[in-house]
Amino acid sequence: MKSKTTTSPEQVIGRKLFKYIQAKDKAWNIFNVNFFKNQMLKMSISNPQMQRNLFKFVDVLPALKNSKQISQYLFEYLTNSKPNFLVNNPLVNKLLDTGVHITVKLLAASFICGTNTQQALTKIKQLKKKGQDYTLDILGELALNEREANHYYHEYLKLLKELPEVNISVKLSALIPQINPLDWVNKKFILKERLREIYREAIRQNSFINIDTEHYSWKDITYEIIKEVLMEDEFKSWTKAGIVVQAYLKESERDLKAWIEWAKTRSKPISIRLVKGAYWDYEYAIAQQHNWEIPVFTEKHLSDINYEKLTELLLNNHNYVRPAIASHNIRSLAHALSYAETIQLNKSRYEFQMLYGMMDSLKDYFSEQGYNIRVYMPYGELIPGMSYLVRRLLENTANDSFLRQGMLEGRDVDELLKDPAQIHSKNTQLEANGFSNSANIDFNKKLNRDRMKLAIKALEKELSSKRLYPLYLEAHKIYSDNHFESINPANPEHILGRISQSSTEHCDRTIKAAQQAYLKWSEAKPELRAAVLKLTAKYLKEHRYRFNALLCLEAGKPWLEADGEVSEAIDFLEYYAQQALDLQNNKLRSLPGERNTNHYQAYGVAVIISPWNFPLGIMAGMTVAALVMGNSVIVKPSQQTSIIAYEFLSLLNQTVKELASDYSKGLINFLPGDGKTIGSYLVAHPLTKLIAFTGSNAVGMSIHDTASKARPVKRVIAEMGGKNAIIIDESADLDEAIPGVIHSAFGYAGQKCSACSRVIVHENIYQQFIERLVEAAQAINIGDPRDEACTMPPVIDTNALNKIQQYIALGKRDTNMLLGDLEVPKSGYYLSPYIFSEVDSKHKLAQEEIFGPVLTVLRAKDLHAAIAIANDTIYGLTGAIYSRSPLSIAQASQEFMVGNLYINRGSTGAIVSRQAFGGLKQSSIGFKAGGPNYLLQFVQEKTITENTMRRGFVGD
Ligand code: NAD
Repeated sequence: MKSKTTTSPEQVIGRKLFKYIQAKDKAWNIFNVNFFKNQMLKMSISNPQMQRNLFKFVDVLPALKNSKQISQYLFEYLTNSKPNFLVNNPLVNKLLDTGVHITVKLLAASFICGTNTQQALTKIKQLKKKGQDYTLDILGELALNEREANHYYHEYLKLLKELPEVNISVKLSALIPQINPLDWVNKKFILKERLREIYREAIRQNSFINIDTEHYSWKDITYEIIKEVLMEDEFKSWTKAGIVVQAYLKESERDLKAWIEWAKTRSKPISIRLVKGAYWDYEYAIAQQHNWEIPVFTEKHLSDINYEKLTELLLNNHNYVRPAIASHNIRSLAHALSYAETIQLNKSRYEFQMLYGMMDSLKDYFSEQGYNIRVYMPYGELIPGMSYLVRRLLENTANDSFLRQGMLEGRDVDELLKDPAQIHSKNTQLEANGFSNSANIDFNKKLNRDRMKLAIKALEKELSSKRLYPLYLEAHKIYSDNHFESINPANPEHILGRISQSSTEHCDRTIKAAQQAYLKWSEAKPELRAAVLKLTAKYLKEHRYRFNALLCLEAGKPWLEADGEVSEAIDFLEYYAQQALDLQNNKLRSLPGERNTNHYQAYGVAVIISPWNFPLGIMAGMTVAALVMGNSVIVKPSQQTSIIAYEFLSLLNQTVKELASDYSKGLINFLPGDGKTIGSYLVAHPLTKLIAFTGSNAVGMSIHDTASKARPVKRVIAEMGGKNAIIIDESADLDEAIPGVIHSAFGYAGQKCSACSRVIVHENIYQQFIERLVEAAQAINIGDPRDEACTMPPVIDTNALNKIQQYIALGKRDTNMLLGDLEVPKSGYYLSPYIFSEVDSKHKLAQEEIFGPVLTVLRAKDLHAAIAIANDTIYGLTGAIYSRSPLSIAQASQEFMVGNLYINRGSTGAIVSRQAFGGLKQSSIGFKAGGPNYLLQFVQEKTITENTMRRGFVGD
């Protein structure tokens, strides 16, 4: 029997729509801006590399100062080579400059309805004539500082006052600087107040306010405040408010249902704009980078299916909410039209929305047919509008975009109108290949924030001066007579515990036991050793909130930093377990009659000496690397953070007892105490064969000297200090560079080996950069790390405070203080951020590791000079460059002498297996932690070659 092909109502309507716009589009002439735009987009689609480069060029354009620069960058992006002689010709430059500006202006003009309200009004009038409505959007995405937030806030109010009965789309991210869900409690108050003012003005002017939805991480908080404010008596019966639901989000159905229920209880409708969502690339990348569940549908047709489902839900509930179907996808639109017909919904009960400059003929169809159509009209200056423009370009040219397929590539109409539910899913499951990074806790979720608060509260109660911590040796807990205290740096009154101080006798005893343990453990199967690490990782995951809280209380880490460090420790455990197993396949070549085998042999007793600033991640990483390769370990943690080390080693010991109890005696030992006495004693002891150290350069070098004099020479792996620089090139995107520098310099109060302590700025943007930098640094939230909003905690102890203050005094004496001496909490070792300029590059401030919130700004005449300044210290740990010039990036990659170079991001935050971590010059001895070569340093190699030839025959 022949199968009958049926035509769906969506196809019938869709074909009608296509026919209409195709007929209209034929009427285009080459002077039409849309014609020009489409030609541009077609050209770029034909060459994907060129497309990416062109978009990058469009992005950097507002930062370029003169025609020479424009020619130079255009040349770099298009040819990937140095500009040739033409670029030095002023006439050529002028011509290119003019051409580029006309092109970008035309592109911008096709998506942006004007630079000011007057121009926008002219366009609105034209729309009105065609029976179309509008909503205005002031360009500018997010506010970086209070001044910018204030500016946008007043712009909205001004617009409302100037234009009565206006319809505006407002972005909450423009109303306060850098929405941060962790800072929510404080910021919510201000944001609600501003939103109320905007709503009040709108009510006075009979205007309409739609709040846009942007990034996923802000969605819940955006919804939360709108719901709360609109439920207040003052606004409860107001109906000219709207919100947005993004159908590409997997949880959008749940959200939409919640909105409908909410609207029912409020009993006055609000408007709900249903979009697919414009930040897909961003959401996908961020989730992947954090190893979070991807919040968006990973296949386009799944978003389309969801869109249709939510369309039906919206239209069915038109009595409670006012549906606004916002799309350019003809299939989605046809579905909405057909469904509205099916349920016999009057056209006045819903509306369609489309973006300015996209598919104008389609809009005409809707208005001519008597549907309500509203055009989203962004207006404003090009610089704040650039990200909007790039988003539109991306949207028009993305591979699976309807606009690209339908309008630019002319794909078959029926194919485009196909029911998305009939499209088959590809298997997009990513292959988990051995190792994947641990996911950080998503603190955007309230539930997780509540859990963290509980964990901190519980631990605060538990930790007190009454608690005694033992040494751990020969599988015994030993309480010594001498103790030292561990304190909370944010609240030094709070003694967290008293820790047994090790003596040299304890060291002797431990080393002997560890030597015996090593002899056995080194013979254990690699699989068993790897299993110990894997199970410990599992336990650590289970106790993650407790460790977060420990890091917060004992090391003074803000939530995100603490949680990142727990992830790092888990990653080290899982990554090294996997690496150790992989190393077994490291085979040598054998020939007939000659068998070659390679064997890794542990060194023996490994001493692990760790710092306080990564008291869990680094301590755990060094310890388990030694252990998994067959060494026994003695851990001498930093005194300030001994409790964290004790708790981790307890977990590790528990696992060894569970999986390998025969090996446990003397295998993992904990000897807390003073570095100068206990640390150096352990280093010098003849039976210790390997020292894994992370800490200051002075101590690292002294360990190296001792070890190199021993016979046989002891193996030293040392990760040491840094004097890290971030270069701000002339073409840097300052919206990215400033938060990047602030986070790198002042995150965890600058107490990271990778922290940025010098920022080297191209002289052409120097003034602009420092003004914005200082402004942003003033907004840093200095406070107690127990408070979720804190981004800059106190420094670790009085010694650190005094040492940093000496550098600050030098800065005040010899340089120009741009920022400093801000108010800080009274108790606790607090310092405010300090920024010094006019610093000689040879000055101590620019040469020595300060390890505190002190940033030096240096000026360079060009990139070459900037790199020379950056390289001019004994260190070479991390560095970063912000630049949008491909050639500058290439030059920095080649010449910047650092172990970890970051391009267009901050200098901190290396992740195991993705950014193997370790420096050049005097910053490191050995291979990088968290990288493929690290474990090899914990073993010696033995090669055995056997002649298998016997009287003319080959043995095997
Ligand atoms: P530190 O050098 O003072 O102490 C590190 C460890 O060494 C501590 O456990 C300490 O007790 C011990 N120690 C001190 N003197 C000793 C001696 N004579 N012999 C043996 N052990 C001794 O460093 P810190 O203040 O704990 O940590 C901050 C330093 O660590 C900074 O210089 C920072 O750059 C560096 N650091 C480097 C990395 C990296 O990966 N490169 C990571 C974190 C920290």
